[in-house]
Amino acid sequence: MELRKVVIIGSGPAGFTAALYTARANLSPLVFAGSRWGGQLMLTTEVENYPGFVDGILGPDMMNILRKQAMRFGAEIFNEDVTTVDFGHRPFKIRASEKQYQSKAVIIATGAEANWLNLPNEQRLIGKGISSCAPCDAFFFTNKKVVVIGGGDSAMEEALTLTKFATEVTIIHRRDKFRASKIMIDRAKKNAKITFIFNSEVVDVLGKDKVEGVKIKTTGDLPKQTDCFKYHPVTSKMKAGSIVELPIDGVFLAIGHKPLTDIFKGQLDLNENGYIIRKPQGDKPGDFQMTTTVEGVFVAGDVHDYHFRQAVTAAGYGCMAALEVEKWLESRE
Ligand code: NAP
Repeated sequence: MELRKVVIIGSGPAGFTAALYTARANLSPLVFAGSRWGGQLMLTTEVENYPGFVDGILGPDMMNILRKQAMRFGAEIFNEDVTTVDFGHRPFKIRASEKQYQSKAVIIATGAEANWLNLPNEQRLIGKGISSCAPCDAFFFTNKKVVVIGGGDSAMEEALTLTKFATEVTIIHRRDKFRASKIMIDRAKKNAKITFIFNSEVVDVLGKDKVEGVKIKTTGDLPKQTDCFKYHPVTSKMKAGSIVELPIDGVFLAIGHKPLTDIFKGQLDLNENGYIIRKPQGDKPGDFQMTTTVEGVFVAGDVHDYHFRQAVTAAGYGCMAALEVEKWLESRE
C-alpha cells in the first residue's frame, strides 16, 4: 500500500487551497474531492466577494479554476468519497472506492452544508433567488423584498445584513419564540425594514425561472400585537391553518448548517453540533493552530469554522493547514 505524505479530504476553497500549497511544497498531495466535488460554491451563481475577480465569477467556474491551479503543481485529485478513516495509529488509513490509502498527515476540509427545507421548488431555485448566505448574496437584492426563514442568531444576522440592500425583509419563524439571543432579536426589532411572521411555515417557493413569492402556512394562532414586533401586514389575513401567498424576490434559509463529519465520528473530537474541534498543539504557544485532537490530522474551512463561513476565510484556513503540515512533516523527518 502506497504511503502518501498528505491526503486532503474535501474540495471546497479550503481543500483546493491546501492542495495548492502542499503541492508547491513538493508534498504530492492526494485529494479526495468527493463525488459531488467543489462544495457549497457549486450551488452558487455569482461570487462577488472573493478577491481577484473584478467582475465577479460564477461559483462553479471559480471552483474549476481552484482545482486546475492545484493540479498545475501536481496535486492528484480523485472525485471519490472517503468511506472510512482510521486515525488510531500513524500512518493514517483512508478508504475510498474499496481501496485503502495510507498517509503521514491528513487535512480535513469537508465543509458544511446548509440545511434546506426540501420544498417542492426549492432545489430548482437555489441561486435564482434562494440563498443560504446573506453576506454572499444580499447585494443581488438591492431594492427588492426578501424573506428570511429561521429563528436563531443566523436568521437575525442574515436579516440585518439584508436590510443594507433590500427594501423589506420579513423573518418567518415556525414558532412564536425565537431561539436567537436577546441582543440579536432587539437589533432586528429596532430595524425599520424588518417585519415578522410567527407560527408559520413556508410550504413552497413560487416562480418559474426566479423566485417570485412564497406560500406560507400558519400552524398556530399568531401572537397578539403586544410585544413590540412589527408584524408583516399579511398577518392580518392569517389564522391557524390558513395558507397565504406572499410576493417577494428572495428567500434566505437560516435554519442551521450541518458539518460533513459523519466519517470522523469516534476518530477525533467533534463539538455538540458535529463540528471538528480545533486544538492548537506544539511545544511553543502558536506552534500549530490548525491541529485537531489527533496529532497529524489538520483541519481547514467550514468543517470547523461555524462563525465566518466565507470562501475566502476557508481558503485562508486551507493555506494555514498546508503550511503547518509542511512544518510538522519536516519536524518529524
Ligand atoms: P440555530 O440556532 O440552530 O437556529 C436554527 C433555527 O432554524 C431555529 O430557530 C429553528 O427553529 C429553525 N429551523 C430549524 N429547522 C427548521 C425547519 N425545518 N423549518 C423551519 N425552521 C427551522 O442555528 P443558527 O441560527 O444557524 O445558529 C447556529 C449557532 O451559531 C448558534 O449557536 C448561534 O448562536 C451561533 N450564531 C451566532 C451569531 C452571532 O452571535 N452573531 C450569528 C449566527 C450564528 P426552532 O427554534 O423552532 O427550533
